[in-house]
Amino acid sequence: MSREQLVVQRARKSFQTGNTRRLEYRIHQLKGLLRFITERRKDIADSVKRDLGKSEHATDLFETLGLEGEIKLAIEKLAEWAAPRPVEKNLLTLLDEVYIQPEPLGVVLIIGAWNYPWAITLQPLVGAIAAGNAAVIKPSEVSSHSATVMEELLPQYLDKDLYPVVTGGVSETQELLKQRFDHIFYTGNSTVGKLVMGAAARHLTPVTLELGGKSPCYIDKNCDLTIACRRITWGKFVNCGQTCIAPDYILCEPSIQDRVVEEIKKSIKVGLTSMFRTVFGNFTQKKCIGVYGQFYFQSEETLIYVLCNTSQEFYTDNPKTFEDYGRIINQRHFKRVMALMEGSTVAVGGESDESQCYIAPTVLKDVTETSKVMKEEIFGPLLPIITVSNVDEAIQFINEREKPLVVYVFTHDNKLIKRVRAETSSGALLANDCLVHFTVSALPFGGVGNSGTGCYHGKHSFDQLSHLRSCLIKQLKLEGVNSMRYPPHTAKKLSWARFFLLKQVNMCRLRRMALLAIFTGLAAFLVQRFLRRG
Ligand code: NAD
Repeated sequence: MSREQLVVQRARKSFQTGNTRRLEYRIHQLKGLLRFITERRKDIADSVKRDLGKSEHATDLFETLGLEGEIKLAIEKLAEWAAPRPVEKNLLTLLDEVYIQPEPLGVVLIIGAWNYPWAITLQPLVGAIAAGNAAVIKPSEVSSHSATVMEELLPQYLDKDLYPVVTGGVSETQELLKQRFDHIFYTGNSTVGKLVMGAAARHLTPVTLELGGKSPCYIDKNCDLTIACRRITWGKFVNCGQTCIAPDYILCEPSIQDRVVEEIKKSIKVGLTSMFRTVFGNFTQKKCIGVYGQFYFQSEETLIYVLCNTSQEFYTDNPKTFEDYGRIINQRHFKRVMALMEGSTVAVGGESDESQCYIAPTVLKDVTETSKVMKEEIFGPLLPIITVSNVDEAIQFINEREKPLVVYVFTHDNKLIKRVRAETSSGALLANDCLVHFTVSALPFGGVGNSGTGCYHGKHSFDQLSHLRSCLIKQLKLEGVNSMRYPPHTAKKLSWARFFLLKQVNMCRLRRMALLAIFTGLAAFLVQRFLRRG
């Protein structure tokens, strides 16, 4: 028996003990996960530093902060999420209990990717634990330091039979995929996504596929280009462009292309502090809550958080030596990204150092749809600009391609935003900012078509990894009502069935009508008594 087979068998056996059916047990495990993240912050940051060259603060901001929020939300809301959910009834079931009962699926396989090795692997785990499942966790072998730390330390905080970590490469993942699971949650590229779905089909196992693709970013010529380009620069070059929801390419009219290039160039160097003065006016320390060197800014409409260090620049004149500009994950991806530049005009950046897997933040201009960089998801710090004559052409360009994870649009014009939303399709639509929809737990995070299937975050993770069981509880009474469905079938019975089945009952209205009837009766009674006395 292979190691993978053994691990899955053990997880199933533990699941079958029924422990995870108890909400207190799930909460206990979630608290263990929270403790792991807080107590092992340093180990996590060190592993990410070694894998992706990221700073400790960046790891806090992009890996563990979101996880912490998701765990706390699950602990707080678990009782509500797991409770029976009453549904609308029809006339036939008016006296019955009709509800949805979420129940655990069983053993879930979570296959993580390397680009945010902790957030992407542990966030689905939060949902799996909350929903009462066992979960086999397979971190990406590409981010090998994170995988090793996860394998070593996580079992110290969680039930190790129920939530085992299996490390290894393609062959280990394939061995896992031969086993029978009750759900597979995969994050990674679409090619492997198809293999995962094929393997799952052999056991009729449902899947969630969190994939990637080329997310377009349309900039309207009348928008505030300075702010738009700053936000795009941040969204694109964070984690060296190795973000599934990073804007992949820009679509804009030829008349603004040079300004877009200039503004992005400036943004790579201009600072966050000055950016916030522009957006919010002079801010004061009093309005901020400090968390590990970061500050949260609470404005009227939005909660915006930003890494606010003493530096005045995004990545400085020399991103190579700047601690918040990381590295490409490995030589294979370095060569792949470098090759994508071939045949395009470099407008900003372009410098590289293979020995360090360093590629500077780079903007490519006058790119066409036949350019190499447009042939696949970039997943690196290259930002091509494609010019289109107007928004119609931009929409057509987007619709001629696979449905992306995100469509970005930057404009002051609300009608334009609505038009892009109505005439395109993608996992998400984001106007006038990048990436931040990821932080809203209430929004289902996922793709559509080639960018993925299924979704997660917050309650969506819980629902995704639960079976939503339909329950109808009747009493063994009122048998007469059922005669309409028993043979012999007659026209009269059919007309009764038609009435009972097709009539939708509005319970609120019914309740209101009942109350009204009670009040009317009561009023009539009181009036009668009053008149009699009089
Ligand atoms: P990766 O190379 O780490 O692969 C992901 C997982 O697939 C790994 O655990 C690996 O062991 C397994 N794997 C690889 N080849 C396999 C094979 N032949 N058979 C079985 N298993 C195999 O990650 P990646 O695919 O390079 O990740 C980058 C991609 O993931 C990008 O396309 C990105 O957009 C996407 N992504 C999507 C999201 C999202 O939330 N939608 C998040 C992060 C990354």
